[in-house]
Amino acid sequence: MSKYWSAITRRINPYTPGEQPRDRRYIKLNTNENPYPPAPAVLEAIGMATDGSLRLYPDPDCEELRTIVARYFGLKKDQVFPGNGSDELLAFAFPAFFDPGSAEPILFPDITYSFFPVYATLFRITFERVPLREDFSIPLESFFRANGGILLANPNAPTGMCLPIDAIRSVLAGNRNRVVIVDEAYIDFGGDSVAALVPEFPNLLVIQTLSKSRSLAGLRVGFALGQAELIEGINRIKNSINSYTLDRLALAGAVAAMREESYFQDTRNKIMATRERTADTLVGLGFTVIPSQANFIFISHATEPAASLFSRLRERGILVRHFNQPRIDNYLRVTIGTDAEMDAFLTTLKTLI
Ligand code: PMP
Repeated sequence: MSKYWSAITRRINPYTPGEQPRDRRYIKLNTNENPYPPAPAVLEAIGMATDGSLRLYPDPDCEELRTIVARYFGLKKDQVFPGNGSDELLAFAFPAFFDPGSAEPILFPDITYSFFPVYATLFRITFERVPLREDFSIPLESFFRANGGILLANPNAPTGMCLPIDAIRSVLAGNRNRVVIVDEAYIDFGGDSVAALVPEFPNLLVIQTLSKSRSLAGLRVGFALGQAELIEGINRIKNSINSYTLDRLALAGAVAAMREESYFQDTRNKIMATRERTADTLVGLGFTVIPSQANFIFISHATEPAASLFSRLRERGILVRHFNQPRIDNYLRVTIGTDAEMDAFLTTLKTLI
């Protein structure tokens, strides 16, 4: 606490990112990174962009990237907004679409991406958490009431559970005067994207990222998809904060990544296959495994407390994520790594239980 801090700086409880330790080599299954490197063409494109042109500002409108993302989703260029990771897109979307002081709270599940309440507090948006059911499914009926906007991570984090398109369509149809943001950070690992609903619903904003399924967490690129009106709203906020959120290297790498379709398909299919194999083995070891359509699984053991498993795995060089938070403090979130990493994880786990 400092006397120089503003009231909001004192009040916020910032998001805590998963650790990126340097003290030793860990098997890192804690931050939902992709275990496979980016496509070789991505590294080549970044190499090619690394030249004297770095003295120049990047394209503030990200024309080339917007064109390729629009084509990928069958949308128009003015329905795409690239950003510095999906976190930044969320950070812009809050002030763009939600009103501080509104009597109607924005709604999101009680167990979901923990950045949602952080942004709401930072931007002074009233929010209400909708309790998930006991089995972590989302009670959709709770989203049909007066609200200031809706946020859904789909698949949800950290559960990995995914809603079908029709469920989200019903939320969109029941809230036509409010923006519904669907954070699809993990959609490429088995879920169905609602991107195709953009032309139908002017209140839909879809957010995706290259951090997970395109192996580019280190490059910081994501994009929002929505009708031109919404995209213009986000642009107004962006151009009130920082006009150049994507640098030249990120733009070059992102364009190349979107072109590498077969590499993308191969790596995401490998991760899904490893996930299913890992889940089967864990069930055999006495774990409950929440059905996941993401690149992580959410697991709880019948007798071994999650907090203890977390520290004992860590001592043995394996990092997973434990959230010390009501309802989920007996669960571990485990990112799906390579087959070799998951074998090491399972072998170590067998010695602990
Ligand atoms: N949304 C969800 C649900 C996430 O888990 C993450 C990863 N922490 C993000 C968004 C942010 O991803 P990025 O900023 O790397 O695109």
